[in-house]
Amino acid sequence: MESYKNEFSNKDITVCYEPCKCVHAEKCAKELSEVFRLSIIPWINLDGTETKKIINQIKRCPSGALTYRKNFKKRAS
Ligand code: SF4
Repeated sequence: MESYKNEFSNKDITVCYEPCKCVHAEKCAKELSEVFRLSIIPWINLDGTETKKIINQIKRCPSGALTYRKNFKKRAS
């Protein structure tokens, strides 16, 4: 079986989506449709709004299918 990455990044965060955990309540798509899109691929568009709003929405995912991590930032030397 082929596995594929469900990771999406912007400059601040990387979002991971685990479809096997998703309960398909469409909470994310209803509440933040600029980012979580039901009929467009890629379905997560992290350029849709500011990172803070995306993080707040991920925290409201009822199943834990959506998670995020902050991107490592290089220090200027
Ligand atoms: S909010 Fe979470 S459980 Fe609901 S549709 Fe989105 S990813 Fe799936």
